[in-house]
Amino acid sequence: MENVKHLKCIKCNATYPAKPDTYTCSQCGGILDVRYDYEYISQKVNKETFNARKEFSMWRYREFLPIEEESPVSPLRVGWSPLYKAERLGETLGLSSLYVKDDGLNPTASLKDRASAVAVVKAKEAGADTVACSSTGNAASSLAGNAASMGLKACIFVPGRAPEGKVAQLLIFGARVVSVQGSYEDTFKLSAEAIERWGWYNRNAAINPYLVEGKKTVSLEIAEQLNWQAPDWVVVSVGDGCTIAGVWKGFKDLYQAGLIDRLPRLLSVQAAGCCPINRAVMEDKPWEPMPEDTLADSIAVGVPRNPDKAINAIKESNGLPINVSDQEILDAMKFLGNSSGIFGEPAGVAGLAGLKKAVSEGKISHTETVVNIVTGNGLKDVANAVKAAGEPLRVAPSMEELLQAFKTV
Ligand SMILES: *Cc1c(COP(=O)(O)O)cnc(C)c1O
Ligand SMILES: [Zn+2]
Repeated sequence: MENVKHLKCIKCNATYPAKPDTYTCSQCGGILDVRYDYEYISQKVNKETFNARKEFSMWRYREFLPIEEESPVSPLRVGWSPLYKAERLGETLGLSSLYVKDDGLNPTASLKDRASAVAVVKAKEAGADTVACSSTGNAASSLAGNAASMGLKACIFVPGRAPEGKVAQLLIFGARVVSVQGSYEDTFKLSAEAIERWGWYNRNAAINPYLVEGKKTVSLEIAEQLNWQAPDWVVVSVGDGCTIAGVWKGFKDLYQAGLIDRLPRLLSVQAAGCCPINRAVMEDKPWEPMPEDTLADSIAVGVPRNPDKAINAIKESNGLPINVSDQEILDAMKFLGNSSGIFGEPAGVAGLAGLKKAVSEGKISHTETVVNIVTGNGLKDVANAVKAAGEPLRVAPSMEELLQAFKTV
């Protein structure tokens, strides 16, 4: 990996060679960050190289990824999700330049595929035959899918509250699934013990430094899809904090390699009932655990595993934290679907709910360019979708009844 210099601890600055199974800092337990040789990268690629590439997946950015040149990757098409100009949505919100990046269109229907796609490559590089993680759902289903595509075994720990659609995905992809009857925190702890005990490859996002690197490809795509421009704002929903950290890393990478000439601000959106990262930023104090009180299961993370990278990202980008209620999330789900034909799960649309609030509070101005990332597909959580959208008209198979029913709406 000539593009990678080393792994660097974000707490104590210790550095380590970038081995596939090095996770956290052995000196202080801190999280590691992959450091690149941007001079090397900018000699290898430029805008024209990318514009000419025919690889329409996240692997078009291999020079920015911490994988060996000859490592095989999953044949699944992860990444290169569409960036739509959302005219009607923008008009309603009062934004003249709003884009939606639909990452629910990934192979297992969430942005987590980007991280899991890297995880299975690193697992193979490490010679592992089993990969494991704990997850509120999407990290797990993406790992199970990507593992299946590479012939790896997967062992997955989910909290008991994970929606059925997500658990079904795991089972279909052939993973061994352990449903822990407890909180996400309990689930995480048990998985960590099991991983240690059996020596599996660890896909827990805040521990494995390579996963954020996969997630950052969403930003590389956004910039390229905007013709190598950074938007003014990128809106991200936040749970553990790895996604927003990845989004920030992607833009910084491009900036350091000379592919963009400015950086966006990040709007960090959390559920009001579970917002430890945003609260830390708002109150400018260390983060504290919170209850997991929200229906947006993918961001119901009371004890975030990557708070430092996430808080850095929000602050460094001169970003803003904003919290939304469950009702605002459900409204956003319906609003997004109605006005754009995109179906997001609750955590997938929380960003839009936050954006709406930020614009109405005058925090984002009408002429700024905004990219809202829809992080997961609505079919994963049908129960909440029905809650958001209501019931159909029920009629007997008769025109009379239909006329009657239509009159009532
Ligand atoms: C995981 C996830 C998030 C948040 O990502 P974190 O890295 O946990 O902050 C947001 N939306 C969806 C759909 C997710 O699956
Ligand atoms: Zn350290």
